[in-house]
Amino acid sequence: MAIESFNPYTNRVLRRFQAFSWAKTERILGQAAHVARTWRSTPFAHRAACMHRAAELLRERQDELARIMALEMGKPVADGRAEVQKCALTCDYYADHAEAFLTDEPIQSEAARSFIAYEPIGVVLAIMPWNFPFWQVVRFAAPALMAGNVGLLKHASNVPQCALALEKIFHDAGFPPASFRALLIETDLVAKLIEDDRVQAITLTGSELAGSRVAALAGANIKKTVLELGGSDAFVVLADADLELAAKTAAQARMINSGQSCIAAKRFIVEKPVVKEFVAKLKTHLQAMRTGDPLDEATQFGPLARPDLADELTAQVNDSVAAGAKIELAGGQEKPGTALFRPMIISKVKPKQRAYYEELFGPVAIVMEAKDADAAIRLANDSRFGLGGAVWTRDVRRGEELARRVESGAVFVNAMVKSSPEVPFGGVKKSGYGRELSYLGIREFVNQKSIWIG
Ligand code: NAP
Repeated sequence: MAIESFNPYTNRVLRRFQAFSWAKTERILGQAAHVARTWRSTPFAHRAACMHRAAELLRERQDELARIMALEMGKPVADGRAEVQKCALTCDYYADHAEAFLTDEPIQSEAARSFIAYEPIGVVLAIMPWNFPFWQVVRFAAPALMAGNVGLLKHASNVPQCALALEKIFHDAGFPPASFRALLIETDLVAKLIEDDRVQAITLTGSELAGSRVAALAGANIKKTVLELGGSDAFVVLADADLELAAKTAAQARMINSGQSCIAAKRFIVEKPVVKEFVAKLKTHLQAMRTGDPLDEATQFGPLARPDLADELTAQVNDSVAAGAKIELAGGQEKPGTALFRPMIISKVKPKQRAYYEELFGPVAIVMEAKDADAAIRLANDSRFGLGGAVWTRDVRRGEELARRVESGAVFVNAMVKSSPEVPFGGVKKSGYGRELSYLGIREFVNQKSIWIG
């Protein structure tokens, strides 16, 4: 893919970037490996001061950063500012807690003294997607830099300006320039980076296909990976749920980032007695959402990030409808090759349809009927993915018991699935492995060294 900023709202190319050659990439890798040797022994207090400054800069520049996202990938500016604020919160969180998360941990053993020391591992390559172009990167970079690692970012090809803006923030915040670099490279150079001994580990957020390719290569080179991949989260609504709140939250959960979120609720599994009423309420909420120019403060959902993504979503819906799915709310693309996609609801989704087994990365809600709670959980688990999930019921104890039966990395009872700095985030099954955020996230890319004193 060409590295270019393309405005999906106006269908215009804003700027093209010359992809880095291997010689340039290799030079930057060399600088990163060099600085990693000194950065690892800087005091936590120094790293924390830089990270707090990064948080301040994110807050100061939030309008400008939201504007870049609106232009490059169609995110409404109000949502863009919220994303940047969350990045700032996460920088502060790791600045405040990294030292405690990585402090030596005593172990009871036969030794006079034994403990685990958490040590930085060096250069980590981060391959990131366009949907939350700042958040996905900060979720990796804040713990990595605080742990004493350094980061090389290969961002998605359609968000180069976001990548460069974030690089500038870390540099302006006082981190050594070589400790965080955006590589404007095409995917062919990723393999060379993974094969290079100076890269110690790889984290990838993106599709299952990209994840499996990168992990295969990393495996061949005995390198650790964390994979944050796709999801098709179930949103289970039992007959005793607060239906109004569930339907309102369902619409928000499906429409996060115009439906392009890994943890967007995608499959609404509803107990039979309330399914009609739920669909009617969901329809009302989805129809009330305003689209428009992402630069307009009043816009609630913008275009998808690229026209080809909308074309693909249309194909997934059309194929599913041809195989028996029913359209409950008509929306979709106005014409092929355009990025705006209005919300849709489809029902009667069955196992052989694409909508049943693929991730729908856009504003299409799938509604499935379940005869009881057990059937709902069976349906929820009948997915290759396992990222998040939600259960709605007024019986909170039952909600918790059902939450334990959902095969996913997180389940929220009577709430919308979201990420926050203190809660571990990640998936099971084809949604990937490893965890980001919380103390678990910062411990993914460290040498968990056992020290035994006899
Ligand atoms: P994608 O096509 O997999 O791209 C993600 C990143 O991987 C981009 O930087 C892309 O570069 C790169 N990439 C693609 N193929 C590669 C390969 N063979 N080798 C090395 N790098 C490769 O995914 P996307 O369409 O941008 O993002 C949507 C997907 O990400 C969805 O499935 C979504 O659910 C998932 N996602 C998951 C999470 C999570 O936390 N679990 C969060 C957000 C999104 P190019 O842009 O240059 O192709």
